[in-house]
Amino acid sequence: MIATVKKVTQETPRVYSVVVTLPQPIAFKTGQVMRWNAPGSKAGRLFSIAVPGGDQVSELSFVISILPEGIVSSRVPLLKPGDTVDLAGPHGKFIFDETDPRDIGLIAGGTGISVLRSIYLHVLTHGLPNKVRLLFSVRNRDEVIFRDELAALAKKYPQFTYTITLTREQPEQWKGKCGTINAAMLAEEFGKEKFQQAFYLCGPKTFVKNAENILSAAGVTPDRIHIDRWVF
Ligand SMILES: Cc1cc2nc3c(=O)[nH]c(=O)nc-3n(C[C@H](O)[C@H](O)[C@H](O)COP(=O)(O)OP(=O)(O)OC[C@H]3O[C@@H](n4cnc5c(N)ncnc54)[C@H](O)[C@@H]3O)c2cc1C
Repeated sequence: MIATVKKVTQETPRVYSVVVTLPQPIAFKTGQVMRWNAPGSKAGRLFSIAVPGGDQVSELSFVISILPEGIVSSRVPLLKPGDTVDLAGPHGKFIFDETDPRDIGLIAGGTGISVLRSIYLHVLTHGLPNKVRLLFSVRNRDEVIFRDELAALAKKYPQFTYTITLTREQPEQWKGKCGTINAAMLAEEFGKEKFQQAFYLCGPKTFVKNAENILSAAGVTPDRIHIDRWVF
């Protein structure tokens, strides 16, 4: 389907968000992806839909990390309102289970926030009762995607809390955490609830594997660890 670009925002030095309008509404589940087809080529890349699913959605949002050599992502900074993009989908089995009454732990690395954003927005905008706690790992302060949105949501919804950890910077007067995620950090974030939450993870492959191992060692059963697996 040919979608029309509505808005392009440079969120951080390496990440853009793109809002597109669809030619007709689609149905999709929170957590799914669309395939972006590269113009004039058979190449396509999957990008998570960064807004909650629904039955009749006509506007989608994406959060895209720009790889200068990337066949698809390198074109994104050139997009402007009114341009078109060729999308296919929705696809994907990483789906938020809104029937699960457990509280929710979200663990995001970098652009992995895209799909987890669809989950926290789903819970908050659908008025679900689950508490949502997000641990968001980025390299430095400049790379905090949705900084203002996260602060505004935490202020508006007491059920939503978040912590940012910086892996390559230790600024003075920083209120979040510093360092890569480890067992002690996850225990501080999720241990008070005895790791009883349903966890959703997304980020670079090694980041997600590390988080998964820590959660498993803390006794979180595999049915409560949902991972959106990207290739890298
Ligand atoms: C289920 C799923 C959901 C995804 N959702 C998103 C999303 O919401 N946002 C997003 O930005 N990406 C997402 N991705 C990754 C995306 O599909 C592409 O793989 C990525 O954007 C690279 O595509 P490209 O065409 O720009 O680069 P390519 O032309 O495929 O790659 C260019 C070069 O960069 C290398 N490379 C590719 N990806 C990476 C990477 N991530 N880190 C380092 N090197 C890399 C390649 O090996 C190659 O050498 C998702 C992937 C999957 C499987």
